[in-house]
Amino acid sequence: MSHAATPDYAAVLAQIHAEIEPSLGQGRVADYIPALARVPPRQFGMALCLLDGREYCVGDALVPFSVQSIAKVWAVALALRGAGEELWQRVGREPSGNAFNSLVQLETENGIPRNPLINAGALVTLDVLMDHVPDPVEAILGFVRGTARGVTVEVDEEVAASELAHSDRNYAVAHFMKGFGNIRHELAPLMRAYVRQCAIRMHCLDLCRSFLFLANHGVVPASGLRVLSHRQTKRLSALMFTCGFYDESGDFAFRVGLPGKSGVGGGVAAVLPGQFAIAVWSPALGRFGNSLAGIEALDRFTTRTGLSVF
Ligand code: GLN
Repeated sequence: MSHAATPDYAAVLAQIHAEIEPSLGQGRVADYIPALARVPPRQFGMALCLLDGREYCVGDALVPFSVQSIAKVWAVALALRGAGEELWQRVGREPSGNAFNSLVQLETENGIPRNPLINAGALVTLDVLMDHVPDPVEAILGFVRGTARGVTVEVDEEVAASELAHSDRNYAVAHFMKGFGNIRHELAPLMRAYVRQCAIRMHCLDLCRSFLFLANHGVVPASGLRVLSHRQTKRLSALMFTCGFYDESGDFAFRVGLPGKSGVGGGVAAVLPGQFAIAVWSPALGRFGNSLAGIEALDRFTTRTGLSVF
């Protein structure tokens, strides 16, 4: 199959939207967080931001949604800035091959999570971040606003409260790691910060803008602001590539071929270094907790344009 040198991105997005429309709603919205269970499942939005400033949107790209685990990427970026190499004494860099909220490996691995993009790793990352900033969620919001021009981002306190009231599993993970000495702060403020980080709300276009620095080796293209070093950006992108979709990470790499990150709100953000960031949102999830239509849309995008890291 041959690919056009310069794809007509607007046409590609419109075509993908039309093709995916009939299958929207297959899968299930995240119902273990009651506030997310109420989100209408047939929504679909997609945004593409190129490094040269061009932006394309389709469908519900301007409808805000709960980013959930996508926020783990910003938290790792901030923790890398604050703690540097020390972060790797507390959390690993290997895919877990397990569900995002799994406990099983922690017992044999002494409370050291496999990577910072699963829940256990995100809790440790936040625990580390709390040593470096007075309010980690404010720091994350400030970081996100700094990575994109005009980004509208806020915490949905209703979603945060809803998750906090159903946090037994994450509390179990945190307690277990605290038993190994790998969580240092009190669990109540840690869990409050965690659910607020997950409850950050924004739309696809802003999410896409906020990931553009990862496509640009750590520098926000619009402002020239460096938010991570080239090496830190490489490392964070590698984590996204190998661990960004939990036990579906290998399949996402196989189908899409981009570093990316999902959340149970149905969002997926991905980057092609040197070229673009892309964000998709559709709330109905597959069995690994990743957006079914989101991954399908990205599979079609990289297949049709021939643009992936390969
Ligand atoms: N807030 C969710 C949780 O901790 C995030 C999980 C996700 O998006 N995969 O369960």
